[in-house]
Formats: sequence, C-alpha cells, structure tokens
Amino acid sequence: MLSPREAVRTLASYHPPLAGRDGLRLDFNENTVGCSPRVLERMRQLGPEQLAKYPEREPVEAAVADVLGIAAQELLLTNGVDEAIHLLCETYLESGDEALIVVPTYSMYRIYMMATGAEVVSIPAGKDFIFPRDELCNRITPRTRMIAIANPNNPTGTIAPQDDLRQIAHSAPSAAVLVDEAYFEFCGQTMLDTRKEIPNLFVARTFSKAYGMAGLRSGMLVGDAEQMQAVRRVCSPYNVNAVALACLPEALDDQVYVQQYVNEVRASRVRLERMLETNGIPFWPSQANFVLARVGAAASFVEHMRQRGILVRDRSSDHGCEGCVRITLGSREHANLLLTALQETLEELGLAQGASRR
Ligand code: PMP
Repeated sequence: MLSPREAVRTLASYHPPLAGRDGLRLDFNENTVGCSPRVLERMRQLGPEQLAKYPEREPVEAAVADVLGIAAQELLLTNGVDEAIHLLCETYLESGDEALIVVPTYSMYRIYMMATGAEVVSIPAGKDFIFPRDELCNRITPRTRMIAIANPNNPTGTIAPQDDLRQIAHSAPSAAVLVDEAYFEFCGQTMLDTRKEIPNLFVARTFSKAYGMAGLRSGMLVGDAEQMQAVRRVCSPYNVNAVALACLPEALDDQVYVQQYVNEVRASRVRLERMLETNGIPFWPSQANFVLARVGAAASFVEHMRQRGILVRDRSSDHGCEGCVRITLGSREHANLLLTALQETLEELGLAQGASRR
C-alpha cells in the first residue's frame, strides 16, 4: 500500500484559521488597506497573452535585484517567504541533520524542516522573549545544517541584535542561516548588507505585509551567489506567477505608498501600546505590524472582539504565550475601530484597569 515518507506521516497538519474571516482583518498581519493603486492599475493592463505564456522570472529578478543594490545571482523570487523556507530546507536538510529554531516563532519553519526528516531543536526565548543567543550557540553541533530566525519575530514582534545574528552565522558555518525579514519595512533593520561577509547567511523578504500583496504570493530569498545556484536547482521554473511578476516592479517603485503605510502602522502601534499600558495589560514592545498582548482568557477575548467586527489571533498555545493574543496594526482609521472595540472588550471582560500583571 502506498504510504508517505515517515517524516511526512508523523507531521501534524497546519490549518491557519482562514475560514469565515468577516470583519476587520487584524489576525494575519496582512496590510489592512490593500496594495498601491499603481499595482492594481498594472494588473488591469494585463492581457490574455500574458496569462497564456509561462512566466519569465529572470528579467523581473534582475530588476528587483537592481532596486536592492545586489547582483541578480544573489536573488531568487519566490512564491512568498514560505517557498523560500521550503527551498532552503530542501536544499540543505536531510534525515539525521539538526535544524534549530527559537520558540515561539513562525510555524512553517518547523513544518518544512520536519518534512525533510531532520530533527528540529527548539530553543526557548529568554524572559520577555529576549533572543537566546548563547543558548542557541551552545546547541550548534556539526550536524546543525539549518537555523531559521524571524527578525522581527512572529508572534512576539521582538528583534534580535545584528551582532547576535552575525555571531550565530559565524558559529555554524555548515548551516544555512535564514534571517526572515518578513516584517523588515516596519523596523528597518536588515542583515542584507552583511551577506558579503557571511556566505552561509540567507535573508528573506516578502510582499505580503507592508506591500499588501499576500494574495499574490511573492517573496524573495537573498544569499551567496554560489549557494543560490544550488537553491535554484530545487526551485520550480514557474514558481512566481505572471500576474505577480508583472506587479512586483510597480510595487517596488511606489515607495511613497509603502512608506506612508508603514508610518500609519507605526503610529497605530504606539496608540495600541499606550492603551494596553493604560489598562495594565502586559504586552511586548513590537518592531513589526502587530503586538502580542497577554489578556488572560485569549479565546474569550478573540470572540468578544469578533462580535465587534475585529478579528485578532489567539496565540495562547504558542510556547511562552499563555493567555496571549496577537493584534495586527493597520491604517489610522482601522486603529480607531480597533481601539474602540478593544476598550469595550476590556471593560466587558473586567480587564480594563489594574497594574501590570506580566
Ligand atoms: N515569515 C514570517 C515570520 C511570517 O510571519 C510570515 C507570515 N505570517 C511569513 C514568513 C510568510 O510570508 P509569505 O506570505 O511571504 O509566505
């Protein structure tokens, strides 16, 4: 009888709660207002010819590389960062290898790592989700072939110092070290400039968050040109679709749009953090477009918010996140709606006062 590989048989399935998302979407860290109008205009211009043809990734790759100031050979456009993670696992991991992650973190690292048959070693973040540099370094062995770090991290919004990341990459020269910068635009810190001195370092970015294009599934992976040659070998030639390829240069060119959205998110973040503080709700200062807050009865909180038309994400089952919800930030108007619903919910749940209970 046909049977999947053992690593796949034992893999837990991952079902993001996407069904029935009626309301203001503050549950998946997406952009709340949509992409640049220039991207939509570009999409409208597409004709049947562009859909009939297989998409050609390379010219767009060259254009994107140019914008980033890197060589085209260092860049691979991917079907979201998810595909970039998957490709790295396929390129570097096999059964018997070790792969390291810091928990809590983005779920897909573990899934793609485990699917290869590698052993995933989870290193818990420190108090207040401080990046556990020394603990991570101590777990590096000759079998360590991959390390994935989201920076800023999801769901905590916290950031690891550049020097820590550099030290880790130097300490694990036989491991592919992925610094996942999916939320780069909201914090501005990047390891991109460090890639020249660290050949085992990879940086991933996405168009799903600040750019408002999660539905187009577009991201990128940057790494040493020689390593990227290997990654390309396991990549589908048509991994990024024609509509996405047509839109990416337009999206990148409209930095005014991105900057304005990022500014709004940052202002919304300050307002949310202030409201949480006023109400004595513990939270972790965030560098991303979301905030993790410890509200206690997370499921009930999520339901109360949903009844007010606001979707937020229960993260209470993540490591160290007992009683926590993750709230995405968006435009100023959306922050107004969020804060009104939040204050009402806190009052209804009897959480609207008291000193910090972290
Ligand atoms: N990395 C991190 C840290 C994320 O939070 C997410 C999305 N939640 C992704 C990657 C996935 O991004 P993409 O849509 O580009 O696949």
